[in-house]
Amino acid sequence: MQKFCQSCGMPMSKDPKGGGTEVDGSKSDQFCSLCYQEGAFFNPDFSAREMQEFCVQQMKKQGMNGLLAWLLTRGIPKLARWRV
Ligand SMILES: [Zn+2]
Repeated sequence: MQKFCQSCGMPMSKDPKGGGTEVDGSKSDQFCSLCYQEGAFFNPDFSAREMQEFCVQQMKKQGMNGLLAWLLTRGIPKLARWRV
């Protein structure tokens, strides 16, 4: 089963570090290393929409088509971090 980061939706297999870290240094199986390190989010004030916008910008920088980037990130608001 493929796991996705529950904050940004990136496949965990794409995470060069294999996942974020908890306060005690153990690996998070929910969030990637770009979103979550040492038990805290990098952008704690982000809304789901801001996170989506951020990811689209990152993908565009890597040369991805803007519409495709949006399609790939539209599931972000449904991820565990944003379901409150
Ligand atoms: Zn992430």
